[in-house]
Amino acid sequence: MKRVCIIGAGLAGSYLALLLAEQGYVVDIYERRENLLFSNDQSKRSIGLALSARGIHALSQITGLMPNVMENAQRMFGRRIHSLNKDTKYNSYDANNQGVICAISRETLSNVLITAVKLHSQINLHLGKELFELIENNNIIEPFFSGEINIPKFDFIIGADGAYSRVRAAIQNMGEINFEISKSPFAYKEIDIPFSPNQDEPVALEIWPRKSFMMIGLPNKNKKLLQGTLFMPLKGDKFSFETFATPKHTFNFFREVFPDIKFTIEDAVEFNNRPLGSITCLKGGPWYYKNVILLGDAAHAMSPFLGQGMNCALEDCVLLGEILSQCEGNYEQAFAQFYFDRQSDAEAICELSESNAYEMMLESTTLEYQLKKELEHIIHLHYPHIFTPYYQLITFELIPYKYIEVIKQWQNELLSSCNIELFALNKDICNIDKVLNYKALEIYSNRMEKKFPFLINKIFS
Ligand SMILES: Cc1cc2nc3c(=O)[nH]c(=O)nc-3n(C[C@H](O)[C@H](O)[C@H](O)COP(=O)(O)OP(=O)(O)OC[C@H]3O[C@@H](n4cnc5c(N)ncnc54)[C@H](O)[C@@H]3O)c2cc1C
Repeated sequence: MKRVCIIGAGLAGSYLALLLAEQGYVVDIYERRENLLFSNDQSKRSIGLALSARGIHALSQITGLMPNVMENAQRMFGRRIHSLNKDTKYNSYDANNQGVICAISRETLSNVLITAVKLHSQINLHLGKELFELIENNNIIEPFFSGEINIPKFDFIIGADGAYSRVRAAIQNMGEINFEISKSPFAYKEIDIPFSPNQDEPVALEIWPRKSFMMIGLPNKNKKLLQGTLFMPLKGDKFSFETFATPKHTFNFFREVFPDIKFTIEDAVEFNNRPLGSITCLKGGPWYYKNVILLGDAAHAMSPFLGQGMNCALEDCVLLGEILSQCEGNYEQAFAQFYFDRQSDAEAICELSESNAYEMMLESTTLEYQLKKELEHIIHLHYPHIFTPYYQLITFELIPYKYIEVIKQWQNELLSSCNIELFALNKDICNIDKVLNYKALEIYSNRMEKKFPFLINKIFS
């Protein structure tokens, strides 16, 4: 029987173990952490994740996972922007409320996956086993783990060990593999935000954009708390994590910039004690060497500003599973194929995620941004066969990210040519004929028909 080694039982590693076990592989999954099941207490420190189409599609491939996921997930219908003057503005994610995006805590999702992994007879989960090194022996790479003597022979090894992947570092030393790691200027801290939802308003991703930084809050199914994350520059004089020298500084900061949040000096003490997370972005490749392949954050860590890192990692697993099922034992060729098919998508979503930081923090505070978002929906309603806002394509569809990067550029050009001032004046009785620039629409439409004829009518309807 074919035997595979997965390094890392994070979201991608544990999901892939299930997928490959379903294909008949014996899977050994090695994880450096001792304990993967989180108690309720620890979940206070969890990161809320947005799970959307790509992740949902992947999880649906394994019978029985999605009901357990959805039981703990909270659907979000749009984003709500909180201004400094306490005003809020809601934008739905899509005009018809059809796309599904859910908030779920990392721990909950991980618990669902790990529980299934533990129950699977073809998966051996090795906890507290850190990959120590990979060694090449007669053209085959073998893994070595701290404190593990009896290591079986594997057909191949998958590095799902996250942004600081040791598998990646090891194959970089062996082959012609180049990665560029960059640290984002932004860091993050988690915070529980007390929140009493207004029953009349749709459940949303709550956003406090403040130009050079922002806080977001994901709704939590069972609690009156948002799972919040404050994203800020690491360094800087005015608004940065450096300025939280004492709880008093933190308390004053929250009072000044998030006046609609109840925040006490005790909260400030707790906040200051919370760990600071860094954001790593990764570009490069190839992601494979001989019988080793990387995926998820180990191959293409990205900034979290589009909520796609995990969704993309799970989508990687589906693609790799499909390619492996057809490779007839030629693993190196399968890995080359996977890299060839996926690398430009990964690069595109990394770029899209990076640029979304500024869109969320800066542009979303402007009236023009709000109007453009509304106008996008109206154009979609009038021209569904060719125009679906790019955010929806990322979040609610499975089309390759690399196409969306191009489509976003074209959509931006179209929106910039629209008469936004007129739209602002007549929003409620909007006459699309007067707001749209038909020449620009024709250019957009021709581009779509020429480059993406296979998407028209299939996705855009
Ligand atoms: C603040 C923030 C918010 C985010 N929000 C979202 C979101 O809303 N939606 C979304 O889709 N994505 C989001 N992401 C991205 C998402 O968290 C990652 O893309 C995802 O966790 C990647 O999964 P992975 O399995 O590849 O890596 P990881 O989740 O990092 O898992 C790697 C695993 O490998 C283990 N490991 C590491 N080294 C070794 C070793 N040497 N030996 C053995 N085991 C090892 C680790 O312990 C870990 O369990 C967010 C990220 C951040 C930082």
